[in-house]
Amino acid sequence: MSANMLDGRALAQELRREATAAIAALTVQLSRAPGLAVVQVGDDPASTRYVRTLGKLCASVGVTFQPELLSATTTQSDLVAAITKLNRQPNIDGVLIQMPLPDHLDATGAILALDHRKDVDGVHPINAGLLAQGQSCMIPNTPAGGMELLRRHKITLRGQRAAVVGRSAIVGRPMAQLLVQADATVTICHSRTSDLAGVLRECDIVCVAAGRPGLITAAMIKPGATVIDFGTNVSADGSLVGDVAFAAVVEVAGAITPVPGGTGPVTNMMLLRNLIAAATAA
Ligand code: NDP
Repeated sequence: MSANMLDGRALAQELRREATAAIAALTVQLSRAPGLAVVQVGDDPASTRYVRTLGKLCASVGVTFQPELLSATTTQSDLVAAITKLNRQPNIDGVLIQMPLPDHLDATGAILALDHRKDVDGVHPINAGLLAQGQSCMIPNTPAGGMELLRRHKITLRGQRAAVVGRSAIVGRPMAQLLVQADATVTICHSRTSDLAGVLRECDIVCVAAGRPGLITAAMIKPGATVIDFGTNVSADGSLVGDVAFAAVVEVAGAITPVPGGTGPVTNMMLLRNLIAAATAA
């Protein structure tokens, strides 16, 4: 039997409508629109495309968008000065630092310069620490989107066994923290995990953020389990594929996110959610 599709596009549309209404109400309350700034250093084409996409998204939901485009030869102190200025700018509620930065710049230093209350990407160590303590914070957008997909599709998490494949600071680790907060019993797997299949076969929820196409096969999945695929890999023919061998796993799982159209579309909606929270607290 084929698994239920956890449709990220449909959810993203619903979340966009909700965000638009919340932003309109907030604009009245604050007497200004919420503001998002994006710091981009250099002209990496993928970054430029993403910044353009964010600009369009902001325009469509009523958010003021301020791109800060710095030259590829910007020094660390100029970068920190630009971030500090945005931290203090009263009509800017959220600041994103577009990664990767050019090699001569220190990404950790740039992130530390950010006011954690404006860290709508959830990358500042203060937010990671608050999340680890189960306290309210800016949650990284990708795992927040995965949780929203689970929640809106009423997938039971309490008391369930879950695994997260991947331990990056931006996807795997925060996803594991969020599942623990939702009362799941969580195992974090990584490239040194022995018997990945054995661990995953015990689990009711499997979330994958490894960046390895086809890593998760049908034999690794317990029949009826829910599978969340964060993987975004470009295959040789240019198409987008996840980390899960979708065609086979869909026949075993109870519910699954497609790639594309699963976790991806929900991610930017979670950015809006963080921005709304930051503007509300301002
Ligand atoms: P990283 O490369 O930072 O982390 C990958 C993780 O996967 C590491 O922890 C690594 O283990 C683990 N891993 C790699 N190979 C294996 C393996 N064979 N078995 C078990 N674990 C393995 O990637 P990110 O977390 O940044 O991204 C992961 C994926 O999610 C990528 O495909 C990325 O494109 C996608 N992504 C999707 C987003 C979305 O909105 N859907 C947003 C952000 C990312 P170890 O730590 O031991 O090296």
